[in-house]
Amino acid sequence: MLYRELVDIYEKLTSTSSKLEKRDILSDFLLVVPDEILPFITGLLAGYVFPKWTEKELGIGPKLLLKVVSKITGITEKKVEELVYSSGDFGEGIERAIEQKKQQTFFDANIEITYLMDLFEKVSSYSGKGSQDKKIKYLSKLFSAASPIEARYLSRIILEQMRTGAAEGIILDAISKFSDIPRKDVEKAYLLTNDLGLIALYSRRGIVELSKLNVTVGRPLKPMLAQIAGSIDLALKDIDEPEMEVKYDGARIQVHKSGNTIKLFSRRLENITQALPEVLSDLKSSLIPNNIICEGEVVAYKDGKIAPFQYVLRRLRRKYQISELSEKIPLKLFLFDCLLIENKSLIDLPLKERRNILISSIKESKIVRIAENIVSKDPFEVKEFYDKSVNEGHEGIIIKDYLSQYQPGARGKKWLKIKRTLETLDLVIIGAEWGEGRRKKWLSSLLLGIRDEEGSFLPIGKVATGLSDELFNEITEQLTPLILEENGKTVTLVPKIVVEVLYDEMQHSPKYESGFALRFPRVLRIRDDKDAYDSDTISRAYEIYESQEKTF
Ligand code: AMP
Repeated sequence: MLYRELVDIYEKLTSTSSKLEKRDILSDFLLVVPDEILPFITGLLAGYVFPKWTEKELGIGPKLLLKVVSKITGITEKKVEELVYSSGDFGEGIERAIEQKKQQTFFDANIEITYLMDLFEKVSSYSGKGSQDKKIKYLSKLFSAASPIEARYLSRIILEQMRTGAAEGIILDAISKFSDIPRKDVEKAYLLTNDLGLIALYSRRGIVELSKLNVTVGRPLKPMLAQIAGSIDLALKDIDEPEMEVKYDGARIQVHKSGNTIKLFSRRLENITQALPEVLSDLKSSLIPNNIICEGEVVAYKDGKIAPFQYVLRRLRRKYQISELSEKIPLKLFLFDCLLIENKSLIDLPLKERRNILISSIKESKIVRIAENIVSKDPFEVKEFYDKSVNEGHEGIIIKDYLSQYQPGARGKKWLKIKRTLETLDLVIIGAEWGEGRRKKWLSSLLLGIRDEEGSFLPIGKVATGLSDELFNEITEQLTPLILEENGKTVTLVPKIVVEVLYDEMQHSPKYESGFALRFPRVLRIRDDKDAYDSDTISRAYEIYESQEKTF
C-alpha cells in the first residue's frame, strides 16, 4: 500500500466536519488495509506513530524538521520558518517549501507504507550523541521522495499535530462498524489495552478473538476515577460496604513489573519510568510477585511535610538532573490497588480481595507504602478519618465500594471523593452561639458572612468544629465586645472580625441569603491584618463556584 492512499484519506477526513462521515471514511478504508500494516496505519490515523505508553519516540522536533527541509530544498532555514509562520501551520509551510523546489526538479517517488514503518522504527532507535545527524539523513531521504501534499501530512505525523478530527472515539466507532462488533465490546477491549492498532487487528478476526485481549504487563490501563460525593452521609448511603482511603495529593502511577523489568506509567498513560529512579529502585525489592500491576499515588515531601502536588509534577516533567532533585524533593508512593498478579487479571475481583492481594504482595519500604484506610459505616468515624487526613496535609478521602470491580477509565459511583479545596476565603464572623458543657464559656458555633457589593455581610456557613481551645479563647475574647443582640444562646455581632476559612466545596444553596454554602468550613486563623471591608466578596464565591464546576 502506498502512503499516497493514506494522504487521500487524511484529505477526505479534513474536508468533512460530520462525525458520521468521518467514521464511514475510516471504516471503508480500514477494511482494505492489509493485516501487516493495520496497527501502524490505525495509529497514523489517530495522529501518533507509537502509542504514548511505549518507550519509543521519534524524537524529532520542529527545528530538526526545518533543517531537513532546508537541506533538501536549498531554501534557508529562516525562509522555511517564514513560510511556516505565514501559512500559520507547520505542515502547510513545509508543503509550500517543497512545492517551490519541486517546480524545478519534478521528481516524486512512490512511498510505500512499509518503507515508512521501517524508517520510523530506525529513527526512533537513535538517541544520544550523533543521533541527530542520522535522523536528518533518513528524513532527508523521505522528504525528497515526497510530493508537497505528502510532505504536509508527513510533518504533521512526525510532530503529532494531525488535526483531521479523527479522535480515538471516532476510530473506535469505525472499528465497530467495519468488524460488525458492538461498540461496547470494542471499547472494553480498548480500555484494557490502550492500543487502537491492536484493537483494529483483533476486531477483524471477530468478537471471540477480540475478547481474548486482556490486562497485560507493559500495557497501561486507563485508570478508574472517582466522582465527587455530595457528602459523607450521602456517600455512606450510596455504598453498602464502604472503605475509605486517604486521598493523597500527588500523581497517579501505574506500576508494571515483569521479571526484572519495572515500568511506571502516568495517569495519561505516558511511560515515566525514567523520571522516578528512587521509587523504581525501592519497588525492585518491595514487589514480591514476578509479575504484577499495581496502582498508587506518588507524593512529594518538603522539609518533612507533604508538599503541593506541583512538586511531583516537576519531577515527572524533569528529564535531567534527576538525582539532584530527588534529594531536594523526596517522594513516597502510596499503593492502593492491584490489577494483575502472575498474569492473572484481578480487575473483576472485588476491591476487598484486590486490596488483600496487594497487601500480601508488597514489602513496605521507606518510599513504597500501602495507602492508609479504614472500613466503617459510622459517619463520625469517617468524618474523623477525613479530618485526620486533611490535618496531615492530604487532599481528603476517597470512599470506595469494597465490593466493586475495577472499571478502567470509568468515573462512576463506586469511588466517591471528598476533597478539601486549597483555596481559603477571608470571611467575617456575623453571629455566634454560646457553647454547651465544656464549651460553655466560648462563643463556639460561628456564623460566617460574606460581603456583597453594597457592603452588607450575608451568611454563607457555620463552623463549630476544628478550632483549637486556644483559638476559641481568642475568638471569644475578641467577639464579646461586639455583641449587638442576644437571643437565648444566639448572638448577633458587629461584623468586624475576619477569619481565614478552609472548606471542601462551594455549593449553591437557598439556605443562606448569600446564595452559597460552604461544605465543611474550618477556621484556620484570625486575620488581624484585615478589617471587614478587606474580606472576600460574593463575586469571589461565584468565581470559585464556577472554577470548581470545571474541575469536577
Ligand atoms: P481527581 O483527580 O480529583 O479526579 O481524583 C482522582 C485522583 O485521586 C486519582 O486519579 C488519583 O491520582 C488520586 N488519588 C489519591 N489517593 C487515592 C486513592 N487512595 N485511591 C484512588 N485515587 C487516589
